[in-house]
Amino acid sequence: MDGARVYKNKNALFIYIRCCLDACLICLVVNMCGIIGYIGNDNGIEVVFNGLIRLEYRGYDSVGIGFKDKKGKIKAVKSVGRIQRSDVAPGMPNLEEKIKENGRFKFDSQIVIGHTRWATHGAPSERNAHPHVSMSGRFAIVHNGIIENYYTLKKELVDKGYKFSSETDSEVIAHLIDYFYNGDFVEAVRKTLTKLDGAYSFLVISEVDDFIIGAKKGSPLCVGIGNDEIIISSDEMPFVDRTKKVIYLNDNELIIAYFNGNYDVKSFEGIDIEKEIKGVPYDIEAITKAGYKHFMLKEIHEQPTTVKNAFISRVDHLDTMVRDNFPNLPRNINRVIYLGCGTSLYAGMVGMYITERYAHVPSRSEYASEFIYRDPVIFRNDVCIALSQSGETADTKEALKIVKDKGAYVAGIVNTVGSQIARLAGKGMYLHAGPEIGVASTKAFTSQIIAINLFNMLLIDDDDYRQSIINEMKRLPNKIKDVFNNEDYIRDIAPMIARYKNFLYLGRDINYPVALEGALKMKEIAYIHAEGYSSGEMKHGPIALVDDNLLSVFIITGGRDIYQKTLNNLLEIKSRNGKVLVITDNVDEMRKYLGNDDYIIKVPNTIPQLTPIINIIPLQLLSYYVADHLGREIDKPRNLAKSVTVE
Ligand code: GLU
Repeated sequence: MDGARVYKNKNALFIYIRCCLDACLICLVVNMCGIIGYIGNDNGIEVVFNGLIRLEYRGYDSVGIGFKDKKGKIKAVKSVGRIQRSDVAPGMPNLEEKIKENGRFKFDSQIVIGHTRWATHGAPSERNAHPHVSMSGRFAIVHNGIIENYYTLKKELVDKGYKFSSETDSEVIAHLIDYFYNGDFVEAVRKTLTKLDGAYSFLVISEVDDFIIGAKKGSPLCVGIGNDEIIISSDEMPFVDRTKKVIYLNDNELIIAYFNGNYDVKSFEGIDIEKEIKGVPYDIEAITKAGYKHFMLKEIHEQPTTVKNAFISRVDHLDTMVRDNFPNLPRNINRVIYLGCGTSLYAGMVGMYITERYAHVPSRSEYASEFIYRDPVIFRNDVCIALSQSGETADTKEALKIVKDKGAYVAGIVNTVGSQIARLAGKGMYLHAGPEIGVASTKAFTSQIIAINLFNMLLIDDDDYRQSIINEMKRLPNKIKDVFNNEDYIRDIAPMIARYKNFLYLGRDINYPVALEGALKMKEIAYIHAEGYSSGEMKHGPIALVDDNLLSVFIITGGRDIYQKTLNNLLEIKSRNGKVLVITDNVDEMRKYLGNDDYIIKVPNTIPQLTPIINIIPLQLLSYYVADHLGREIDKPRNLAKSVTVE
């Protein structure tokens, strides 16, 4: 993939590493919630507890651990709500309360599993929290994903006399293993696997054997190999400070993890598989807050660097290096279709404007969740690009499968190395933005727009065009730093902004998706109703909403035409006594139209294709400071989870 010109480049090592990572794009992973298992000589309760804290961004409505006690009996401790006491109001339930006394762990165990849940079947409650223990008490499981045929399986098990203690789909796994157990734990798990439909990864421990079994089909599972311990987990974060050696399980593979760092990987059919040990692609620093109050704020501030990482080793020998990421791109592209959900959908919309305007190729951007039910018409010369931060987004993955099956050219633009969408696509670009832990996406969006621009440069046979983009990309990190000069102002106005009950975010052309993304950020973390609208469309309905409770947030940058037309829309709001906040690169002129109770945020000027990168940053900060003022749980907003791996 990219990095083919390794030895000509002074950043040879960096590019070589990137090349290896991009090569991983050939292979793929899925799901919501985090699971973890530990087998080793340390106190596994502590390792799993700390690991769960790092996985909590994946789901946080309830949490639990299961372990073998001194007598070899299985114990489970569960709680609704959060892991740490400090994350909940006094008196509210949390796991820490249940497993610690006077600051020390009450239990010690060397075989432990844990789960942080994002409920799909059954309300968030203690009884629905994982682990689920089989009726006999012999097996305990933690599961990530959905067992689609659970209802039938449950009925069959009930008929056989099994009693269920939760409403989850997951519990069937524990009882099935118990049902199939006939002296061989691995065999019982393998038989269970033949019964399960859906996407899942799960871990299981048993009273009868001293090993952990993990199985993967559709949801992610990776394995940290320590000197004398194994940690199996939904991602590498729980073990990055203990070992850098990792293996990524593929679908239909299971692992049996023993003491002393030993393990076997097998296919579901029981055939031994040799796995390549890889290196975790980041350090512990990447997953700490580094002094920031929230991960989201840290990630907003990382953007000068993350944006640079997305292009830096790809632009020197542009033609070859980016072309290698999209091998055998059709000569006569019929359409470029961007597929995504949420923030990635909006990045794809930016792509649509770029592809049509500058590459003159028909393009559209599709809600993956709608696309998959539309029986879309797809041609062989369609180029379909799946966008996803996590690379696990279920709707996007399904959309990708559909277009792949229909013979389109497919590629992925994803952040998480080795993720499912990356593997399924088999080609495309990694963002190299580092782990994004704040649930509301920030740095992934700006990096996606860089990647989209790089891709589009392949479609545009014009050296001047390419050079102008490269030159401007190189200026971007400093321009983003200039945006941060507004941060104090944004923090200061946040209490006033937080008084509004409704927001209308308005932008035109390539900044229309920025309006949508700005509104999404406000909804996600401040829980205030916010709508993104194309500013031209505003007069066809939403203008009726203008009143004292509504703030209209305008993005007014770009070419003269766009600028003037959007300004007209602003004046339409102003002449109805509406209050506005304006993001603009033309502060002096804009001031003429604004009153004392309006707000203005200056952004540096850039070329239209890159304006969304500059313009979204004050909007990210705005939602952050409003949410912080309102005391919201910024990194883990209510009802959300980072990677939406269910359809
Ligand atoms: N479907 C399971 C449940 O609702 C697991 C959900 C998850 O992945 O957190 O408990």
